[in-house]
Amino acid sequence: MGILDDVVINAKTAAEVVGKKAGQIVDVSKLRINVAELNAELSKRFEALGNYVYENCRESLAEDAEAVGKMAEIDELMSQRDALTKELVDKQNKVVCPVCGKQSSTTALYCSNCGTKLSE
Ligand SMILES: [Zn+2]
Repeated sequence: MGILDDVVINAKTAAEVVGKKAGQIVDVSKLRINVAELNAELSKRFEALGNYVYENCRESLAEDAEAVGKMAEIDELMSQRDALTKELVDKQNKVVCPVCGKQSSTTALYCSNCGTKLSE
């Protein structure tokens, strides 16, 4: 083989190596995306499970100090959120429909969502 043949073969080998590396990078990217998607899905499922347990399993977990503590933390955060939401509603001159929860102007006589009479 001549020098030219060696150069051609080396260039071909180099191209194959680069192609293989690019393929591996694509594979790794796809795998990372798949892992990230599964992690996102798992987070959603854990959240759904947490909501279910929070709403339906209080009595059966009453002896579980850790579960009771975590539920109490959520209760506290919800109560803080509700207080802030009420403050926000008051500052915006809005009222919250006692039936559906939709916010309306304090001048509205009826809820625009469900028709409930909004009295002062
Ligand atoms: Zn309403």
